[in-house]
Amino acid sequence: MKARLLLTLFFVSLAFNASRIAGPFDWRMAVAALAAWWTADLLSGVVHMWMDYRPCVAGVGLKELYFWEGSRESDAFMARQAEVYAQINVFERICYDFKKHHPMPDLLGRHGVFHLMKAPTFFVTLPLSLALSVAVLFWRPPGWLMVFMLVLLLGSSLTQYFHGTLHKVRSPWPIRLMRSVGLLMTPAAHQHHHDTLQHDFSVINGWSNPALNLVVNALRRAGFLNEAGLVPS
Ligand SMILES: [Zn+2]
Ligand SMILES: [Zn+2]
Repeated sequence: MKARLLLTLFFVSLAFNASRIAGPFDWRMAVAALAAWWTADLLSGVVHMWMDYRPCVAGVGLKELYFWEGSRESDAFMARQAEVYAQINVFERICYDFKKHHPMPDLLGRHGVFHLMKAPTFFVTLPLSLALSVAVLFWRPPGWLMVFMLVLLLGSSLTQYFHGTLHKVRSPWPIRLMRSVGLLMTPAAHQHHHDTLQHDFSVINGWSNPALNLVVNALRRAGFLNEAGLVPS
């Protein structure tokens, strides 16, 4: 219920911000929308890289859950999972979910769009959108800047949903349409990430992957990305 209210608040805030777009459509708005789509993709990759390599909190049982050999539908697993999750905060849970996604990629695709919007929206885009709503009460930004911010907020909120569709056998038609024109990446392109966990972290359209891969390679060479962080200890 609380989640629904917060998501509603996000969409109301986004609609209000959209109503403050100044002036008629001009070409700069189209350029701004594409730039925001690239930026949202880049942010998805940066957060993904950080979450993949950031070590989980140790000694609370996450390793036991990650390497569980029996059925994950069993009462024993569910009970142990509830025990472990009770000991960690939401942020640690999200970090664990990123790592769990690698051996169990299909789980992500089973969730609906509103569930997958929760983490990025509640922690990042809702506060930013509300701050923007307050700001535009007193300030009228250029139309192209408003378009940039709106596309960035919406794209970032949908990051994990887009990621989930990359692991679905069949995605809804709007997703397939956006893929066909290159606005969303394909499951085959995302598979490059799962093959090595060393590159191609961006999950929206993949446009930022070449640039981010250069940064990731430099970080790896400098010893900033320790592969031990990829699994719970
Ligand atoms: Zn990953
Ligand atoms: Zn994935």
